[in-house]
Amino acid sequence: MTTKVAEAGERVRDLVCGMAIELSDDAHLHSKRWRGRTYFFCSADCARKFGAAPE
Ligand SMILES: [Zn+2]
Repeated sequence: MTTKVAEAGERVRDLVCGMAIELSDDAHLHSKRWRGRTYFFCSADCARKFGAAPE
């Protein structure tokens, strides 16, 4: 079974600041894997905050 993450052009939400992120914008994307899922963030700062306190 393949783990589908997200498709280009799809929108996800930054769980830290609530900002909508367009996944086609690869160059500025920050992602973090946690418990087998990939989460996306608007900035390295948000990714770091998530890493410090995922829940
Ligand atoms: Zn953010």
